[in-house]
Amino acid sequence: MIVLYARKSVERENSISCETQIEYCKMMMKPEERGEKVEIFVDNGFSGGNINRDGFQNMMKLVRQGKVSKVIVYKLDRISRSLSDFMNILQEFKEHKVEFVSSQESFDTSSPYGELIVKILMVFAEFERTSIINRVTQAYAHRSEMGFYMGGRRPYGFELVPAIIHNVKTKKLNPIPAEAEQVRYIFEVYAQETMSLRRLQDLLIAEGKQPVNESHWTTAKLSTLLRNPIYVRADSDIYDYYDRHGTQITTDLSLFTGEYGAQLYGHTKHDSANSDWSDMKLVLLTHPGLVGSDIWLKCQRKLEKNRQITNSYSNPTSWLAGKVICEQCGHTMTTIKGKPTQSGEVRRYFNCTGKSHKKICPGPQGSVYAEDLENMVDECIAEKLADLKQTGHHSRNVERGEINDLKLKIKAIEQQEKQLLDTMLTGGFNDALLTIANQKATQLKQDRLTLYARMEELSSRKEETDVVINLANSWQTADYQRKKAVAMIVIHKILIRKDGSIQIIWNL
Ligand SMILES: [Zn+2]
Repeated sequence: MIVLYARKSVERENSISCETQIEYCKMMMKPEERGEKVEIFVDNGFSGGNINRDGFQNMMKLVRQGKVSKVIVYKLDRISRSLSDFMNILQEFKEHKVEFVSSQESFDTSSPYGELIVKILMVFAEFERTSIINRVTQAYAHRSEMGFYMGGRRPYGFELVPAIIHNVKTKKLNPIPAEAEQVRYIFEVYAQETMSLRRLQDLLIAEGKQPVNESHWTTAKLSTLLRNPIYVRADSDIYDYYDRHGTQITTDLSLFTGEYGAQLYGHTKHDSANSDWSDMKLVLLTHPGLVGSDIWLKCQRKLEKNRQITNSYSNPTSWLAGKVICEQCGHTMTTIKGKPTQSGEVRRYFNCTGKSHKKICPGPQGSVYAEDLENMVDECIAEKLADLKQTGHHSRNVERGEINDLKLKIKAIEQQEKQLLDTMLTGGFNDALLTIANQKATQLKQDRLTLYARMEELSSRKEETDVVINLANSWQTADYQRKKAVAMIVIHKILIRKDGSIQIIWNL
């Protein structure tokens, strides 16, 4: 019996198909073998790295039963890419008097010389295989070019274990099950709508869920933990989140697959409770994150809201500072902190400096609370920007329509120019025709250039419109600094009248 064996490799995508290999094998059959029984074995999509392949094993069964006289393959490495495996198989073939033929390499297994050649060939094959493995490993290493642990204290929930990543001695984060479980719990509970840091702290104490080997949870510790991206399974939403905050992200977006945690590092002049991470960097690490990005982001939104409230109590200034004027005396109104109420709440309000510093003005009636004024102005600006956005969208559509119109007109002129040329070429060049044609051509060229100029003007205006449209969107998410910057531009002043009513004078 003659056996034809084919294996399609997994190592290379566009390797030769099994069908083609069998065709090559058939060509190796001698005319006198045509009448013999032929058995075909095929292993599709298998690696040559091992011999645990169905087709191959079935073939070897027949060999061991002494039923096979000849094995034909397309290439030696179809049998095995491992030299030792190959030599063993060759030995078995020999024992069972099996002739072995390859369509691509010519050799005679019965001579010592042939055997030597086989060995050399296999060394090359093995070398090739090793280099394939190298390439695959390299590609993987490149793909997984995530970061090393950038140092710092051990984050709760993990232990630091020595590791070698890309030949560099470093440390890797390993989850500690009991602590990791607690971290997940903290995120899940805090993500709930009505949960505050204070209540979370109380809850953890009440449930006896205290940090392992550490003193008890405080709101500060919980806040730090909840803000740490080391716990999130970072996906594109997380990338987006930090990107929006101006953080430099050192890992490629394509690696944010929702599996691994990330680390924020680098120096910041701001305190860690601030959400300005523009001078910080984010790197994806190699440890699996503990919580999903949706829960993590929900927690960030809550923390940010919290922080805004805290800031408005602790920070006596307002993003409207310098713009608020007392109408009666014309002096600037500045924010000061009021006395704490019974519930301990401290509110900021605008105070006339003509009243407090110079004693020349009674000041407006009632209290002008900073938060109320800020909220009101915030809404007014949002409305203004929405209006702009609307007209922006409208004029963008108009511009788009006109640009299209111009393109059509230019096309028409180009056609006329071409027709004119055709007429001249077919009708011959007499002087009169040439003069008319010349005039016409000059006119058409003039028209075309005018249209081009108009189109350029429209295109640049369209860019400006795009900026305005984007501005409206970013106001919604603007932080204190950005709000202040926008307020400086769009508001001329805010007058507080005697009766406490408000008038905004716009720069728009
Ligand atoms: Zn005043």
